Amino acid sequence: MTEITALKKLNKSSKKELEDQNKLSLTDDILRLVWREHKISRAEISRRLGLSRSTVTDLMKDLINLNFISEDGVGESSGGRKPIVLKFNDDSRVVLGIDIGAANISVVMTNLRGKLLMWKEIKYPARNDPEGSKRIINELCNECVATVKDADQTLLSIGVSFPSPIDPKHPEYISENIIPDWHGKSGIEELRDKFNVPVCIDNDANLGALAEHWWGAARSVDDLLYIRISNGIGAGLILGGKLYRGAKGIAGEMSHMSVDPNGKQCGCGLRGCLATTVSAWALEARVATLSVLYPDSPLVKGESDIIAIENAALNNDPLALQIVSEAAEQLSIAITSLINILNPEMILLGGNLTRLDEILLKPIRAKMEVCSLVSTVNKPQLRIGTLGSKAIAIGAATLAIQQAFSDPKLLRKNITPGVLQ
Ligand SMILES: [Zn+2]
Repeated sequence: MTEITALKKLNKSSKKELEDQNKLSLTDDILRLVWREHKISRAEISRRLGLSRSTVTDLMKDLINLNFISEDGVGESSGGRKPIVLKFNDDSRVVLGIDIGAANISVVMTNLRGKLLMWKEIKYPARNDPEGSKRIINELCNECVATVKDADQTLLSIGVSFPSPIDPKHPEYISENIIPDWHGKSGIEELRDKFNVPVCIDNDANLGALAEHWWGAARSVDDLLYIRISNGIGAGLILGGKLYRGAKGIAGEMSHMSVDPNGKQCGCGLRGCLATTVSAWALEARVATLSVLYPDSPLVKGESDIIAIENAALNNDPLALQIVSEAAEQLSIAITSLINILNPEMILLGGNLTRLDEILLKPIRAKMEVCSLVSTVNKPQLRIGTLGSKAIAIGAATLAIQQAFSDPKLLRKNITPGVLQ
């Protein structure tokens, strides 16, 4: 073969590759449009995407064959023939969302519209036992797959929430400083191998924000500050409609935001970090410190964990109310600072203390009123997230859906059931 002939062949194959790629990209545009609109006609698709009717018909064949889209009767006509309506099949695939929390492991299975099909939760000290946690995760995932009809055939991908910052470029690694017992490994490759589907991972606060933004209280909001109160204090930031992770995935790590320079010494080197004042262990430690002032409190006489503190506050126990009031004060200092930096439209709280609703929100709102110059001009809403304790696992499932829609190869994958162990 002469060099010129070889070059011509190469050019021809590159051109073919480019055409295939363009075709895939247009097919994805169509898929996302139908998902967003739920139902839409071919004519409307061609109008919105600037494609000819015949191109749309041609590109749709793949999506119909893969059962992502199906025909759903005829719609209203604006003069000519009545158009055939196409609908997105929400139940054509399922995803799993896993929440590895401080004291619980939970797994949800949802369809492609975030509809909850299964919810499983087990109390477990996941931070201290990676092997035991992985075993429980497998069991819960297997239960979901076995229970939901055809899930072994239609599992598309898995999302995982980890209680630690995750570098989006290196999701297989986690911080050894924050969860030392996991030895810096998130274990997502093992999950990928076991279930034979792609696995994505992010931290809990980011996923709480994502879930509330897609399905919860912040659906109509493009700039959201979601704060999760747990063993640490984390923020998930939706800025301009997108999750903001920062350069290395550490954005929103509020645990080490100092709100009192004369406060307790924190392991990070600062004093008065939120970790030392609002985290679950800090609130529980506060019970012991204040017990001498409130000897009759049920927290002094009985259980004094975070759930007991919340229950006591709901029963108007003065010790619990003082602890919550102090936590609200510390949180409000952090929130008013962040309002001026980020200018969110909405602030949502999730995790510990949020069962208390207005007992927690009222003092924070009062502080926001007087301490934020900018907020008087553009006051953000302050609310409790609406997805409750399932928010993080639902967020992990949402990340799996989001990843599938941004990765054309994943959606086209012929699903073959993994070997579930
Ligand atoms: Zn600190």
